[in-house]
Formats: sequence, structure tokens, C-alpha cells
Amino acid sequence: MRTFFTCIIFIAFTALSAQNTATQVDPVNSLTVDILKHHLSVLASDSLNGRFTSSEGQKKAARYIQSEFEAAGLHPYNDTCFYQPYTLWSWKWGECTLKSKHASLTSQNDFLFLSNAPMDSTSTSCVFVGFGEDTIINDLDLKDKIAFAFTNSYSNYYSLAYRLKSKGVKAIILTNPNDEKAYQKISSRVDFDRVNVSKAKPFFSKTATKVFIVKPSFAKELFGKNIAALKKIETSKDATKISEKIISVHCPVIVEKVKTENVAGYIKGKTNETIVLSAHYDHLGKKGDNIYYGADDNASGTTALLSLAKVIGTQNEVPDRNILFLATSGEELGLLGALHFADEQSKLPFDIKANLNIDMIGRNDSIGKSNYIYLIGSKEYPVLDSLCNIANQAVNLKIDYGYETNSSFGNLLNLSDHYAFHKQGIPVLGFFNGLHADYHKPTDTIDKIEFEEMLKRIRLIYYTSQLLVDKEVFNKN
Ligand SMILES: [Zn+2]
Repeated sequence: MRTFFTCIIFIAFTALSAQNTATQVDPVNSLTVDILKHHLSVLASDSLNGRFTSSEGQKKAARYIQSEFEAAGLHPYNDTCFYQPYTLWSWKWGECTLKSKHASLTSQNDFLFLSNAPMDSTSTSCVFVGFGEDTIINDLDLKDKIAFAFTNSYSNYYSLAYRLKSKGVKAIILTNPNDEKAYQKISSRVDFDRVNVSKAKPFFSKTATKVFIVKPSFAKELFGKNIAALKKIETSKDATKISEKIISVHCPVIVEKVKTENVAGYIKGKTNETIVLSAHYDHLGKKGDNIYYGADDNASGTTALLSLAKVIGTQNEVPDRNILFLATSGEELGLLGALHFADEQSKLPFDIKANLNIDMIGRNDSIGKSNYIYLIGSKEYPVLDSLCNIANQAVNLKIDYGYETNSSFGNLLNLSDHYAFHKQGIPVLGFFNGLHADYHKPTDTIDKIEFEEMLKRIRLIYYTSQLLVDKEVFNKN
């Protein structure tokens, strides 16, 4: 092992310095902060709407990545097309209705439906149950009916819902009679327009709890009593004096197959041996009016990928190995794009020798910290780690193994796209600059990106990739 390392270190040093002296001008020097800013401002712009997988914003990002790959002179990954499409399932709420004899409420404005399953069209008796005390509900016949209950908290109604469900109710209508503004507060947190995307066809449990939240005024309107009078009801005998009303509800879901795509192109080498550089370009999209820009996560990694494609793609010399640039979608939904690529790669003419994955390299993870990079996978793949350390001679970053050694972070090998390759026994190295307060928030914006720092990190990835494509330096069979 030791002899092997000494040997690669010598060859790697030679390779690195030969590259810099023979060509006089180091190709990576063409990379500037302005180039990075340009890519990142496109990817993290309003018009891409947070690049949610399968959304129009993601597709705009894919088109941009393809055009940059073409401009860099890459070949389509399968020699015909840069897009690698794959199919997912999406579901969203359809038009939700709640009607009484005299009122037709509007979803979001007048009522919210909280459930993880649809509600079939139902017309049934609605029974007033006060605050759901046992003295009220124990003696009431609630089977196949809708219970209308008071609650003091919309975040703490689960035990009430459980007890009502055990009485056989089809659904529960809740209102907070003591706080007129509570409806507005919870309504602003519910994103009814959200599109949910997953690999598996969504499954909706028949027994899921179905809760409607309404404004207190609806209780008054429905039962023809003022709130103060309704609040006084404490026994089933009093409750039965409030006449049951017919309520019709319907909350359908729209389920469909959706398409998304990885974007992949490569520089042809002398053999089919291949080094994959990857970064995910999807993010969390939009929730309500908030765009999740994902400037760091992972417009930064995508920017690195695009700029490296340009630097490497415009070099004249044919490398020993192919260099494949893979921009994945579906990462935020569970590494779906990378897993799809890894599953399909046996059908492609690539013999993948290593993967360098780039995820969140645009920020510093604490105040005052700079000039560093976290490596992920070093423990499992010491040869890649050694080569990265050699490449770092040209950049001088502090290589930080904090995410390798501190178990409180969990095993990050499973948490980004490199996992898809690691799972297949392909050596991987993840480049990462840590979590921060804006992680997975709408505030992960371009103004917080440290471009000078990011440029150095990209240089390190560049030199590492150059060592990996050199068959004399890195020879993994
Ligand atoms: Zn993320």
C-alpha cells in the first residue's frame, strides 16, 4: 500500500507540474468570478422558480445546461441527446369543496383540508360535538357522519381526532372559537397548490384522518347558534339539541406521470474508461409565494460543472479517459436522477472509474471560516483522497474531514449523488462546504455566495479531475 502511494504521488506530482509548464498557460486560469456569477445568476433566478424536479423551472435549467455543454464542445452522453429522461409520479390536490344547505365554502379562503389522502365525494350528517369531551361524544352516534368540533389549537388536535375516528366518523371539521385570527395563521402555512413528486406511485390510505378547518363564523351559520351558546355545551344531551345538518365534501387528488431529465455530455478520451463529474441542478421549487432559490444548493455545484466543462472541453489534447459531466435532477427527492443514471450506466459504453460529486460549494459554513473544503468519501477511497491532496498543492485549501469523522453529521456518503456510484463500488469523492442557516430556505440566495472562495474550490476539483483522467496516475481496475 505504502509503495503504491509513494509511486502515485511521484507520478501525480510530475503530471501536475508537466501540465502547468508544458502548456505555459494553465487552462483553469481562464475561469473567472464573472463567469461563475453569470451561470449562478441564471440558475438561481426568479424565472427558474427554484428548479423543482419536473417543473418548468427545472426544464429551463436543463435547457441552459444543455446549451452550455454544447458550447463547451461536449458530446451527448449517448451520442444523440444530452437529455436522459426518466419518469416519476406526481400528485396534487384537485378542486376541493365543502357545502352546506345554505353555504358553499371556497377552499383556502374559507376552509382548509388537512390530510395525506383524498376525500371521496360524501354527503352526510354533521354533528356538533363541542370540544369533544367524553361526556359529549361517548353517547353520540357518529358512525359515518362528520363531527364538528371546537379546538383551542390547530397544532394540537390529534388526540381529539383519534378519539373521533374511533367512533367511526368520516371526517372532522374543526374551528377555534376563541381566536378569530387562528384560521389566517394556519392558512398561511398550508400550501394547497404544492405538487408532490416521487418515484413510486403515490399510495393513499383509506383510513387516513380527514380534517377540515373552518372559520368560527361557519359554526354559527351552520347550527344557527352563536359561539357563546355553542361553547356552553358539555353533555351529549345538550349536544343532541343542536340539530344535525347535511354537509357535502369532496377533496380529490390529481395523480399523473411526469417526465424529468438528467443532462449529460462528455469529452471523448482514448478509451471507454470514464471519470464522472456530477452535480444536481434541481432544488425545492416554490412553496406559496416563496421561491427556494438554492443558490448554494446546488446552483453552486451546477455552476462548477458548467465552468469545468468549458475549461476541460476546450482543451485540444485528447485525455486518456472520457470525462462525463452529469447534471442530475431529482436529488432533493432522494437522489433519483443519479440513481437512475447509475442504474442505466451498464447500457452505456462507459467504464466508470471514479465520480467526483459537487454539492454546495458556494458558502462558508461559519463566520470567519474560509479557504477550506470538506471531502466526503476519503475514508472509503483513500487513493482518491491522496490524489485530491496532491491536486491541492496547486490551490492550498484546508482539506477538512469534519464530515467524515464527526458522526453527529450522519454519514454524508448517503446524502448526495455520489451515493449512487458508491453503491456500485465506484470510488467517489464528494466536494462540499457545509450546512448553514439558509440551508433549504428561501434565503439561500446569490448575494450570500462567496465567489472568490468558490473559484478556488473549483480549481481543486479541476486539478483532481486531471489526475484521475491520467491512466498513469490513477489506475483503478
Ligand atoms: Zn438540498
